[in-house]
Amino acid sequence: MNMFSLLDQAAARFGERGAVYQGERRLHTWRELADRALRLAASLRLQVQPGARIAIASENRPEIIELMFATWAADCVVVPLNYKLHPHEMAQILDDAGASMVFASPKLAPGLTAARAVETIGSAAYLDRFDTSPVASADPDPSRLAWLFYTSGTTGRSKGAMLTHRNLMAMTQAHLADLDDPDADCSLIHGAPMSHGSGLYIAPYVLRGARQVVPESGAFDAEEFLDLCGRHPGATAFLAPTMVARLVDTGRAKPANLRRIIYGGGPMYLGNLKKALAAFGPVFAQLYGQGEAPMTITGLRRADHDGDDAILASVGRARTGVQVAVLRDDGTPAPTGEIGEIVCRGDVVMAGYWNNPAATAETVKDGWLFTGDKGSFDERGYLTLRDRSKDVVISGGSNIYPREVEEALLDHPGVAEAAVVGTPDPEWGEIVVAFVVGDVAAGDLDAHLLERIARFKRPKRYEFVDALPKNSYGKVLKRELRARLS
Ligand code: AMP
Repeated sequence: MNMFSLLDQAAARFGERGAVYQGERRLHTWRELADRALRLAASLRLQVQPGARIAIASENRPEIIELMFATWAADCVVVPLNYKLHPHEMAQILDDAGASMVFASPKLAPGLTAARAVETIGSAAYLDRFDTSPVASADPDPSRLAWLFYTSGTTGRSKGAMLTHRNLMAMTQAHLADLDDPDADCSLIHGAPMSHGSGLYIAPYVLRGARQVVPESGAFDAEEFLDLCGRHPGATAFLAPTMVARLVDTGRAKPANLRRIIYGGGPMYLGNLKKALAAFGPVFAQLYGQGEAPMTITGLRRADHDGDDAILASVGRARTGVQVAVLRDDGTPAPTGEIGEIVCRGDVVMAGYWNNPAATAETVKDGWLFTGDKGSFDERGYLTLRDRSKDVVISGGSNIYPREVEEALLDHPGVAEAAVVGTPDPEWGEIVVAFVVGDVAAGDLDAHLLERIARFKRPKRYEFVDALPKNSYGKVLKRELRARLS
């Protein structure tokens, strides 16, 4: 099916109920939203052919929702651009994707005009589109491209993961089966960028008629987010782990309506998860996924959060419709407990990288997606993620997983943030270096680690910094840390 069918069903079922909100203000009902998307789609079809790539460059705005469904109704492909990218990086993506059009927010449009056909969201030209008569003709072929998702490029140049309607439908169904079960009295609060996880999660909530709430600020602000959770029923959100930590840092109590927070996309450290559970109660579920298998490889269900520390430190079990395995270097399955590369297959696995058959062949083999992440299964089927292969440090012939050292460092009350990388060393091959944000001496950290992890895993060097370099989704850029050391 075409993803537009979800909105079509929502309009039929929930017609006059509120669909889209900005802050507390109701903008459209479900019937209005579907009508707007179909008019936008009809206007697009006057300009571009099916299969055209339509980019959206905007901080979080309510129009993103109508644009997504309009693009699908017009049989075109959404190319979401992270609004924090530099205009040069956006231009690179637009060129690579061969985008026909860009819908840009008033803030971002001026930086893009040199690039190609840019239309400002909310402009007179944009509003004129709603005068076009709606046409309903979305192609139901699920193998059509729906979403061209540029990876955040933490380990190299950004590549476009080609996601089909089938991929997004599988993600939607797995979400409803494993992580959340919303109804029309629920609300999805868009705290995280809609160009990434929060945008992908629009789909399951539209199907159930849950409100789409876009914060006025268009960005993540912990106070604003918690306020909105108090004002909309059954509040739910997808948040990056760093955002969850910021909610906890507010010191505020759980808003009465806060129903579910789904976190993932980067490591959630055990200590931070425990603090979040203590502050907000059992509202959490975790996903592990990547752009190439959107948001859907494994998941830690809400009920799993009652489990022991090993479960809490894991990324949960294989998701509905997804087969997950851990392989040794020779391609054979690793036994329980042994660390290897995580691979998965199922309807969530991308169709390949856009215009990049070489990278596709390296990443998808016989239908299996090679994630580049290292991990191990326990006897209960819980997967524990170690690190991306490229981040593992090999020192004196031993593999050291930075995440483990980071967890131990974060256990020290004087450490606010920590990131561990390897750097070349003539004696050891590589040595472990820890970048630490906080107020603590290297000697204290050393003593602290001696009580927690093997001696050989301890950093040989500490770098105290004011902040860690992060990409626009809040992921620490280890590449940049390594470059600082060389
Ligand atoms: P992206 O494709 O930019 O979303 O990045 C995906 C990568 O983020 C994965 O391959 C993992 O390395 C990491 N990641 C995603 N979810 C989690 C999680 N729940 N815990 C730890 N790392 C994660």
